[in-house]
Amino acid sequence: MAEAKLIDGKIIAAALRARVATGVAELVAAKGVKPGLATVLVGDDAASQVYVNSKGRFAVELGMASFDHRLPASTTEAELLQLIAKLNGDPAVHGILVQLPLPRHIDTPHVLLAVDPDKDVDGFHPMNVGRLGSLAHGAPLDFPVPCTPLGCSMLLGNTLGALSGKHAVVVGRSTLVGRPVAQLLLRADCTVTIAHSRSRDLPALCRTADILVVAIGKPEFLRGDGIKPGAAVIDVGINRVPAGNGKTRLVGDVAFEEARHVAGHLTPVPGGVGPMTVACLMYNTLQEARRRAGLPFAAV
Ligand code: NAP
Repeated sequence: MAEAKLIDGKIIAAALRARVATGVAELVAAKGVKPGLATVLVGDDAASQVYVNSKGRFAVELGMASFDHRLPASTTEAELLQLIAKLNGDPAVHGILVQLPLPRHIDTPHVLLAVDPDKDVDGFHPMNVGRLGSLAHGAPLDFPVPCTPLGCSMLLGNTLGALSGKHAVVVGRSTLVGRPVAQLLLRADCTVTIAHSRSRDLPALCRTADILVVAIGKPEFLRGDGIKPGAAVIDVGINRVPAGNGKTRLVGDVAFEEARHVAGHLTPVPGGVGPMTVACLMYNTLQEARRRAGLPFAAV
């Protein structure tokens, strides 16, 4: 069997960012509205700092305003809620991103609930979670959808075209990734199976999948014997492992070297789902700015 075609998330994300930049310029020209993204980081977690820096940089590159709020780890929940209330009321802010994880003394669901659902560009507010969960098949996604799942569905749509009738197996049932991915695939008329740590004979289950999305957080866990020949495989995992020379490297949840001899299409790690996540954040911010300007969500 021929080797899997790589799904190049860098190229697909760059194309999405270019379309968002065009959408931003059009919005500024038509309505004088510049989309604004506020990022909120509590504490000094190194990985979170890298993520927040890149989100702010991309926003500016695409012509948006970036409002960067860094708070010390000692910030109280009341202080954080006060900042969110201020951002909710600020007309220059169209998207609010609270970087997770928050310090343990802060109640994360409480904070996510405080973000205005129409500025919830991460799609984690219970109202947006409910909108996605109650979506009729094919209905428009005219509300913020979590960025990584949206990126996965865009990669699949871009690679395979129509997904209708395909059997999708999603491994992982987290509220951040697995469940919303499954809901988006259901909306696209896939037949969806959600697997998790209690599922029996995972390789056999996964071998029934035309589309396999793996989001479990275990390095190279899903092996070649769990892939149907020719399947499209989306590897969401990001795991840092020793590289053997005192350094580390990133690997996914799928054993890449085995998978590429079986799958038809496959995302690499890094360079697959990762770049789509931040591009979809920019997409969501543009859409919320359009909404505030009285314009409908637009396919960009
Ligand atoms: P999570 O909240 O820890 O959820 C992991 C899920 O995997 C759970 O549903 C768990 O099942 C399931 N699982 C664990 N071990 C399993 C096993 N042996 N067999 C089958 N299922 C198993 O993780 P997450 O937030 O969804 O993230 C998953 C991965 O995606 C991580 O590597 C994370 O770094 C990565 N990620 C990447 C991006 C990106 O931008 N590329 C964004 C977000 C996350 P139970 O529910 O039964 O425990």
